[in-house]
Amino acid sequence: MKKVFLCKEIEKDETRTALVPMDVKKLAAMGYELMVQSGAGASSGYSDEEYAAAGAKIVQAIEDGYAFADIVVRINKPESAAGLKRDTLHISSFDVFNEKPLLKEFAQAGVKLISLEMVPRTTLAQKMDIQSSQASLAGYYAVILAAARLPKIFPMMMTPSGTISPAKVFIIGVGVAGLQAIATAKRLGARVEAFDTRPVVEEQVKSLGAKFVKIDLGEMGQTEQGYAKELTPEQIKIQQNAQAKVCSQSDIVITTAKVFGRKAPLLVTRDMLAQMKAGSIVVDMAVSTGGNVEGSHPDEDVFTDNGVLIISGNTLERFVQRDASNMFSGNIFALLEHFWDNENKGLKVDISDEIMAGCLVVADGKVLRE
Ligand code: NAD
Repeated sequence: MKKVFLCKEIEKDETRTALVPMDVKKLAAMGYELMVQSGAGASSGYSDEEYAAAGAKIVQAIEDGYAFADIVVRINKPESAAGLKRDTLHISSFDVFNEKPLLKEFAQAGVKLISLEMVPRTTLAQKMDIQSSQASLAGYYAVILAAARLPKIFPMMMTPSGTISPAKVFIIGVGVAGLQAIATAKRLGARVEAFDTRPVVEEQVKSLGAKFVKIDLGEMGQTEQGYAKELTPEQIKIQQNAQAKVCSQSDIVITTAKVFGRKAPLLVTRDMLAQMKAGSIVVDMAVSTGGNVEGSHPDEDVFTDNGVLIISGNTLERFVQRDASNMFSGNIFALLEHFWDNENKGLKVDISDEIMAGCLVVADGKVLRE
């Protein structure tokens, strides 16, 4: 397998591309043959000419790419497996927990499927981890977005005309996105507090110069992959009550609390929003998986009756698409490089490799690991 086709994204709001010319050039040098659908990089600032100069053949119709390729790459899952040849290796994000019928369709079409969210969280696989690369940019952008809408500035300012106190920012959920949000808010001069259910996070929060909010929820911990465990309804209630006061004193609250493969916990209720100051801003970065904030909406801003603005934190990496594409492409490049078999001059689907075993979700006509 060495013929790689990069598809143009079809989702209306998608701005990124899964491979950038720099990586196309490196793959071509390694021995891969590349074909790119015309316009694939346009919205992230890469022209067809740049892809051609990097060694790719440009085609207009997706059918031509499908006919050529034995590896197809894109950011988002396609609507169907139609047109893909048997034995094609399809690589994209896939939302495997919510797309069971589509997984079956891929299995029936005889296509092999790598779901990039399922890349294991190991040191070796870190460079292939799209969740981390995209979440760090999204965490940065959540702060920039909120800062631009806040009716006050972030840093403390002492001037002859008066003293301005620093903005107060509260980050709930300190994984990859939350850590970047803390770092960005600190750089802009805010006073930052944060909370996460995984106890290991406290040190990381402090090392960024932020304050860790202590809430005793009893038994918590994390999974082997480093993800949070799901809380009980009682624990969520304790967390809500303990956070209410911090939220009411904050100018910006950014929530990033997710539980892998499950619905996100509701952590900021209507009652808590009602106690916040007018002009405060809440960014819900878990909005696509059920939301951490009551009343948040994936596609639009919501104002509460008391003047709190709830911003959707859905796929914020799409606003910084140049860097997001570069990083996503770096992740795909690392994967294609890792599985390159120099003897046979092609990619080897090696199921004995722990990374492949983790992210290959369809093969041999079957959905693996139902
Ligand atoms: P995530 O997107 O699944 O969740 C975001 C954060 O929300 C997590 O920190 C989680 O603990 C937290 N959370 C969940 N429920 C919560 C609640 N009720 N209240 C407050 N916070 C809550 O997580 P993520 O950002 O993808 O990363 C999770 C961990 O995995 C991090 O420690 C990260 O460093 C680690 N990681 C490791 C690798 C690797 O080793 N290759 C790669 C990526 C991430």
